[in-house]
Amino acid sequence: MAVSVSKRSPRWKGVPAKDWNDWRWQVRHRVTTLEELEAVIQLTDEERQGIAKVLKKYRMAITPYYASIMDPEDAACPIRMQAVPTFHESVPGRGDMHDPLAEDRDMVAPNLVHRYPDRALLIVTDQCSMYCRFCTRRRLVGAVDKPRPRSEMEAAFEYLERTPAVRDVIVSGGDALIMDDDRLESIVARLRAISHVEVIRLGTRTPAVCPMRVTPAVVKMLKNYQPIYVNTHFNHPKELTPEAVRACALFVDGGIPVANQAVLLRHVNSSGVIIKNLVHGLMKIRVRPYYLFQCDLSEGIEHFRTPISKGIEIMEMLRGHTSGMAVPTFVVDLPGGGGKVPVFPQYVITQNEDRLILRNYRGYFAVYKAPEDTNCDCSTENEVARRPHAVSYEGLARLFRGDKISIEPKE
Ligand SMILES: *Cc1c(COP(=O)(O)O)cnc(C)c1O
Ligand code: SF4
Repeated sequence: MAVSVSKRSPRWKGVPAKDWNDWRWQVRHRVTTLEELEAVIQLTDEERQGIAKVLKKYRMAITPYYASIMDPEDAACPIRMQAVPTFHESVPGRGDMHDPLAEDRDMVAPNLVHRYPDRALLIVTDQCSMYCRFCTRRRLVGAVDKPRPRSEMEAAFEYLERTPAVRDVIVSGGDALIMDDDRLESIVARLRAISHVEVIRLGTRTPAVCPMRVTPAVVKMLKNYQPIYVNTHFNHPKELTPEAVRACALFVDGGIPVANQAVLLRHVNSSGVIIKNLVHGLMKIRVRPYYLFQCDLSEGIEHFRTPISKGIEIMEMLRGHTSGMAVPTFVVDLPGGGGKVPVFPQYVITQNEDRLILRNYRGYFAVYKAPEDTNCDCSTENEVARRPHAVSYEGLARLFRGDKISIEPKE
């Protein structure tokens, strides 16, 4: 049976399939200069001038695969807008921050961000196969275009070893799968050897931008270190090519669940219709829509930002209208390092002590009556004794618990 493949740009027509399908070839032949780009797509004057300027500050790199799925004639192509710089990146925006999520502040060791009680983010590389123009971590991603040296990772592993509260480690970057199998295995094996690390998640955009990276060999290797989850990053239904579908299927068939973390991007996917097509496409290939991120305040990406209200509108157009499993959580990663906060349309209309009035997606109002006996405390002593590290009373949870009657912000 013929395997269906995406159209290749004429620029790479003569490349043998064995090279084209080799992720190392794709990474080695990334489009990194204006001249190379012009051999693939027609640039507008505006793009040409912008690129020259932007490349002085930020790296451009586009895999031949991803470049081939761009529309060569349309500057508004959603694939192209994610990969090709424009002059807008050199225009300071009104909310711009160098490190909007204060990751540098929350680094407990080089390359390790520990912000939430029980999970931590390990930055293993600053390299990606394609550099997204809207990258939230653009202050460091692409700077050296290399994995972090082994010696530089040691302190992060040691921190994790002595911090039993961390039960979930996100291996990210950059792109966790830009490393070769051996290097990736050394990291995953090291984490798996820490008994309290229950879950390992890999953050990778390769299924969307370099799907050849997902090979039977890497899936087989990762299977030895279960439970492993992959969080990938598709933003537009156009990215769900036969190659991308195959990459996701390899993970899922190999027993590695895949979830998607999309970013809401102005003029790329800022529409309920596009997001709905995206999540339906993802569900068809067994990729669970996990998050839809509000675009962060990183430098030079204001042109990609929407008001938060756009995301709320998109959520309104999903919840109830389609499968609950297809609805991602829309989140704002709070500037200053407050972490991810979900934002929803309002479904609770009003309430008193025994009735809550809710509305549904069609504007139907209903009352939910509380039970007569509202005491629903469970005994938790045994569970607490069984897993003491899982208990976390932080922030508002302390008010519920009654060990505080108020929390006052320092400022
Ligand atoms: C996003 C993120 C996580 C993981 O968050 P989840 O909501 O559990 O997916 C962990 N640490 C940091 C610093 C993060 O930014
Ligand atoms: S793949 Fe992720 S880390 Fe890499 S450039 Fe894109 S958004 Fe940034």
